[in-house]
Amino acid sequence: MIEVLLDLTKELTVERPLEESLQLVTQAAVSLVGADHASIRLLDATRDTLLAGARAGSAPGARPLAFKKGEGIIGWVVEHGEGALVDDVNADERFVVHSGQGFVLASMIAEPLWSSGEVIGVISVSSPQLRAFGPYQQLLVRLLANCSVSPVERARLKRLALYDDMTLAYNHRYLVPRLNEEIERARRSNGTVCILLLDLDHFKQVNDAHGHAFGDRILRLFADRVRAKVRKPDVLVRRGGEEFVLIMPAVSDEHQGLATAARIKESLESEPFEVAPGQKLTQTASIGVANWDGKESAEALELRADLAMYEAKRQGRNRICVA
Ligand code: GH3
Ligand code: MG
Ligand code: MG
Repeated sequence: MIEVLLDLTKELTVERPLEESLQLVTQAAVSLVGADHASIRLLDATRDTLLAGARAGSAPGARPLAFKKGEGIIGWVVEHGEGALVDDVNADERFVVHSGQGFVLASMIAEPLWSSGEVIGVISVSSPQLRAFGPYQQLLVRLLANCSVSPVERARLKRLALYDDMTLAYNHRYLVPRLNEEIERARRSNGTVCILLLDLDHFKQVNDAHGHAFGDRILRLFADRVRAKVRKPDVLVRRGGEEFVLIMPAVSDEHQGLATAARIKESLESEPFEVAPGQKLTQTASIGVANWDGKESAEALELRADLAMYEAKRQGRNRICVA
């Protein structure tokens, strides 16, 4: 028993992909408490969906399930920040039966993962037998929950260096280096690069009218919307505040950027964001489009897109200007 824990804590200090670290924890959980199945789920950046992080034990090939915060026993654990020791899940009103779960469970333990006073995920173990676990196993699972936190935090810091945690777009540090790479690539292959500069219209008013948290939600939904309307190789960067840059490598011609901007504009106008159930808001943007001229620097390209965006603002917002 102590050997499993010693080995785990040592292995968790090794630098490896987060999924692998969490996998080690779930394997240790299966062996330490005699579970049939163990899984770790982490909250996504919006902090309301639990993503499957890792799993071990039975359910080969079964699709990992995403849970909503508050849904099912593990959702309850996240919502309440309390562990659960359940002798018979079918007698527990919190339990939700999911088709496609891929394994039978009768009893379970779930414990929250804590970091800086916030629940960031949940570890759960289960068994097809009733009353498979007791308070001692629950303490072990709690210990494993604590072990999972430092790899998650390490991965988060690494991600923060490149990504904006709120919108999951790249952050400003990424913009110029990536743009330089794309320009170099285009230079070598006689290719193209286009960028879109998108600035939300009157966003300060949105914050003033509905509050900052509402504004944050709009920013997230905006980033999701843009990603849904662009090609796979296009890269979304949050340059700062309510300003985004879309890098479009290897566009087919100088009209493709404009066509993409038009698609985004049309979608923003016609499909309001559903910020909360029943609460919708139309958020437009002013968009500047600039095609790389074949010789300019990344900074010069960005500046031209910027000026085009400002021209769109000047002309009344919710429009597109091409540099
Ligand atoms: P314009 O159409 O001229 O762009 O008007 P605007 O109000 O969008 O522009 P302005 O630059 O005056 O204000 C930008 C606003 O964006 C102000 C700031 O509070 C808000 N903002 C910046 N970053 C964030 C953020 O992370 N969350 C929220 N909620 N608001 C933000
Ligand atoms: Mg703005
Ligand atoms: Mg702005």
